Amino acid sequence: MTATPSDDRKYRHQRERLVETLRERGIHDERVLSAVGAVARHAFVDPALRDRAYADEALPIGLNQTISQPFTVAYQTALLGVQPDDRILEVGTGSGFQAAVLCEMGARVYSIERHDDLLRRARSVLDGLGYDVRTRHGDGTRGWPAFAPYDGIVVTAGAPEMPAPLLHQLREPSGEDDGPGGRLVIPIGGREGQTMTRVRRTGSGPHDYEQKEFHSFRFVPLVDEDEGGG
Ligand code: SAM
Repeated sequence: MTATPSDDRKYRHQRERLVETLRERGIHDERVLSAVGAVARHAFVDPALRDRAYADEALPIGLNQTISQPFTVAYQTALLGVQPDDRILEVGTGSGFQAAVLCEMGARVYSIERHDDLLRRARSVLDGLGYDVRTRHGDGTRGWPAFAPYDGIVVTAGAPEMPAPLLHQLREPSGEDDGPGGRLVIPIGGREGQTMTRVRRTGSGPHDYEQKEFHSFRFVPLVDEDEGGG
């Protein structure tokens, strides 16, 4: 079904309501709110689910995976502290929605997905909407060294433990302008629930990281290909 001008109006109104819901639920970063409010989430979900695209809920995208709840996307994006031109790596492209939100924040976005079918679909939606995202099919627990260091890395699946390669690919704080070190936002824990965790790089040494924990969430698992999970 092709979109009509009244569809556009309907979705615009629903997006505005979603932004209000996110505000009520505790998201106060206006740049994040306007980025979420600018993305056509209905384009990232199955046409049969479009009526629910702007409810604050996760939805299935096939292969037992989900497009994250808008609150979760906004929460992780706010924790990342994205600035225009930041180089951001996303692990778990899924539908492509989070990547689009990062583009709306002005970031240069790199995204990795382990399911090729999901990645192809996300690519076609992102391209269709004009979002410039560099993507790769593979295991994101290893990061993407070719484009490191990153100002931010966001992992959108629940990690049983901290993937060390991601820590190494965070930008070191810059000596000249005292620019901040890279941030990693990652839900850590077992399948029953994870704690949203943010790690900041504070120097060049192996222990120069500071870690802070936030609220609990429940994500689909981050699969480390070496562990042989499904
Ligand atoms: N960010 C996505 C969005 O906006 O739609 C939601 C992602 S979904 C909650 C988590 C995704 O992580 C799934 O698509 C899953 O296939 C992917 N994933 C899990 N383990 C992965 C890994 N090791 N490397 C890359 N992607 C992985």
